[in-house]
Amino acid sequence: MMRNLPSEVDVAVIGAGAAGIAAGRRLTASGRLSVLLLEARGRAGGRAWTVEKNGYPLDLGGEWLHSADRNVLAPLAEELGFEIYRRRPHWTTRLRNSGATQEEEADWIAAREENFRARHRAACEPEDRPASTTLPPGGRWNLLLNATSTWGNAVELEKLSVKDNDRYEDSGVNWRVRRGYGTLQTALAADLPIAFECPASRIDHRGRDIIIETNRGRVCARCVIVAVPTAILATETLAFDPLLPQKLDAANGLPLGLANKLFFGFSGDMTDLDETGDIFLVGSTTRLRTMSYQAKPFGRPIIQCFFGGEFAAGLEREGIAAMAAFAADELAALRGNDIRKQLTPLAASSWRGDEFARGSYSYAKPGHADDRAVLATPVDGRLFFAGEAASLNFFSTVHGAYETGIAAAEAALASLMVAA
Ligand SMILES: Cc1cc2nc3c(=O)[nH]c(=O)nc-3n(C[C@H](O)[C@H](O)[C@H](O)COP(=O)(O)OP(=O)(O)OC[C@H]3O[C@@H](n4cnc5c(N)ncnc54)[C@H](O)[C@@H]3O)c2cc1C
Repeated sequence: MMRNLPSEVDVAVIGAGAAGIAAGRRLTASGRLSVLLLEARGRAGGRAWTVEKNGYPLDLGGEWLHSADRNVLAPLAEELGFEIYRRRPHWTTRLRNSGATQEEEADWIAAREENFRARHRAACEPEDRPASTTLPPGGRWNLLLNATSTWGNAVELEKLSVKDNDRYEDSGVNWRVRRGYGTLQTALAADLPIAFECPASRIDHRGRDIIIETNRGRVCARCVIVAVPTAILATETLAFDPLLPQKLDAANGLPLGLANKLFFGFSGDMTDLDETGDIFLVGSTTRLRTMSYQAKPFGRPIIQCFFGGEFAAGLEREGIAAMAAFAADELAALRGNDIRKQLTPLAASSWRGDEFARGSYSYAKPGHADDRAVLATPVDGRLFFAGEAASLNFFSTVHGAYETGIAAAEAALASLMVAA
């Protein structure tokens, strides 16, 4: 624990999530600058957070190394001795595992692929619009397409920019870190100069030095990397003096959607579906208010429930008992009432209420797809911006956040070297 804050540093990084950690590692590796990370929480990793229950690591936030074959964190994890679990998730079997016929499943997959193409066509048009406008009128799978959006984008299609959605790059390869994606972030942060429980509230960039106000006094810096969630910028919980209206507008155009997880200990099995685990199910194909389930992840005696959007917001307000009751009802409808006796709630996330995140991951409102570039643009060659929302192609992810942190650090280094 860093007891006393330095009064001056070359570079201050605000936020020690994946983006801040990446920036901190790149800056300290240069060996030429004094660096300080200011982190509001008592831990590093932000929205990548692993907790241990019943001896198992549970990722309450980021879990999948998306685009794993292009993911900067995959080789880093292995360098640090973390085992990567390369078994691919067979998400497309969700319907079959939930009682749909093969024909229904094939029809769903075809509808989903057609909707991807429709979104891409819409994104190529000059005007941006809500992704919901690409749904076929009266389409059989529209509610499931929308529910899928509340998981993948943390928001309903009506609120989502079709252009932004189309810019997301996905290689289709998804791996996991056996000990947890959050645990990996903690390990990456281990040697960094981080002041924990030290929220920054104001960045005064009027003078030659930048002054950062924190709950433990002021720090002067030549450069600052801001790596906090957009909700923290949009609410001016972290404010700039003078105001940065473009950043404020961009943060407002890129709000955080909501996706939450609930974990059950599970004493049953689903060997009829798969002996090895990692079984995906869906509660309902005809309701927006439904959950996606992963039974026996890594073969462990657990069921992980995933839910998003307005539905998740309502359940978060009601609490873990309401989440568990809803999930148990859906699982009983799929697998029979006896499953209720096999479920023990272990943990749940509540990212909307989380003071230092206030949501799960960013989406762009219709008309705001270019806000990511606005957010990522440096100010005066000394204020730099990082975080998942500032990624142009890998937003909403841990590796996207990490890449923006490296880019911000390199820009800060270049700027300081030129100034030296
Ligand atoms: C339920 C859920 C599931 C997800 N699943 C995946 C997944 O499978 N794969 C994937 O790649 N991504 C996933 N994500 C998204 C991923 O976790 C995030 O995109 C990523 O972790 C964001 O990193 P970041 O550094 O941009 O922000 P954060 O991790 O939020 O880091 C920002 C840091 O800033 C700190 N902070 C906030 N305010 C202040 C302040 N005023 N002063 C100082 N510090 C402050 C915060 O405490 C935090 O530590 C998921 C997220 C959630 C919530």
